[in-house]
Amino acid sequence: MERVLHYAIKRDYAQYTSTLKEPWRLSISGLSSSLVEAINTKGEDLELNPDEDYASDPAAQFGIAEAKLHRERGINMPMFLGLMKYYHQAYIDLIRDSSFNESDKLKYENLLNRFFNRVEIGFCSTWSTYTENQIIDELQDRSRQMTNEKNKYLTIFESLSMPVFIVNPFGKIESMNHAASRFLNLLATPGENYYGNDRIEPDFIAEFPWLEDIYEDFLQRPETKVFYEKSINDPTQYYYISCSRSLDISNKFQGSIFVIEDITNRKEMEKELERLATTDPLTGARNRRSFMQIFEQEIIRFHRYHTSFALLILDIDHFKNINDVFGHDVGDKVLKNLVVESQSVLRESDIFARWGGEEFIILLPESSAHEASTVAERLRSKLSKVEISNKKGALITYTVSIGMRVVGQSETDINITSIIKEADESLYMAKQKGRNRVVMC
Ligand code: GH3
Ligand code: MG
Ligand code: MG
Repeated sequence: MERVLHYAIKRDYAQYTSTLKEPWRLSISGLSSSLVEAINTKGEDLELNPDEDYASDPAAQFGIAEAKLHRERGINMPMFLGLMKYYHQAYIDLIRDSSFNESDKLKYENLLNRFFNRVEIGFCSTWSTYTENQIIDELQDRSRQMTNEKNKYLTIFESLSMPVFIVNPFGKIESMNHAASRFLNLLATPGENYYGNDRIEPDFIAEFPWLEDIYEDFLQRPETKVFYEKSINDPTQYYYISCSRSLDISNKFQGSIFVIEDITNRKEMEKELERLATTDPLTGARNRRSFMQIFEQEIIRFHRYHTSFALLILDIDHFKNINDVFGHDVGDKVLKNLVVESQSVLRESDIFARWGGEEFIILLPESSAHEASTVAERLRSKLSKVEISNKKGALITYTVSIGMRVVGQSETDINITSIIKEADESLYMAKQKGRNRVVMC
């Protein structure tokens, strides 16, 4: 098939042939099966005979069927016979390149010659029985079918909701559908690109400067399909760009097809889902799951760089009393307030999360025991001074206890579970010792 295609392109026949691989494959498969069929019925002697009934010859059948198909497509006899010579040539090439001995090669070449003679005779004898009028009728009929078929694909192209741009090898937009025109704020009428008199071929990158890097990257790549996501700021928009190369193997319709989808809504939903999945709904602090992911990363980092860090667990003292005395709403207010106040004491790189109930967990990366104690103490002291008003205007204060585990740079045998357990034990000690204090294990 590659050989025939090669000849067809080299000798300019490809301009009248199919563009996709499948019809080429089918033509080779049709020819080869009639060759096999001819040999099966007639043996290896395909010599010609003046009295032979070619209408019933299996080899000629292929020629007869192809004659009809090609006439209908507006291909004339010299064109068809000419291309057939290159099919013939490709089969002969196979014999010449084979490992048969010289006498076998001659024998098989002759066999192939006779087979292709039969195809030609079948083709010419059918073609010559047709009158001019029959051919015109057949062409008109086929032309109507093809116009309908073209209209069907044009309508589908114009009806697509996604903007589709067909860009030629020179970077010009050769065709675009209605959605694409609207995307470029060009035209409002479906079909105008196709039927309009003043068809323009804008430069793809001039229209989409923000796609330049994607376009360049795609052209460098060997794949036939590549997908990209791109965001444009102000206002922030996200696009999904699918790029595909034309599958035309005949070199008639070269270039690429770009489909651009606005995925801004989807992206924002994903971001919102991500936020919801990592945030505690009441306080807006990071949740336990999200904290654990970051903590795991920190442990990996520790094993590589051995920089000391600290883990703090903070628990509100006698929080149950606040709920009992002032109500659950006020309890909630205290929790929210604690989050805001804590952030003001911590660094940007510190990780603060709600561990559950009235307990919070804090990771202080790159902190020595001394630095971590200072931060913990500052936090405890700050929270103890915060005043929260209830509905009646009374001011409520609260204290917290903090358990702390500092992981020193020389430690080797550490794991998440035991670090958390040890911080928790320190917290228990802080409670035991009377609350409102920091204990380091
Ligand atoms: P301790 O000093 O020993 O920590 O005493 P405590 O009262 O703080 O501890 P305890 O574990 O007995 O009570 C914690 C309370 O926190 C019980 C629970 O109802 C309350 N709580 C947990 N989650 C929330 C919440 O989201 N909102 C409110 N308002 N209360 C909550
Ligand atoms: Mg608790
Ligand atoms: Mg408590």
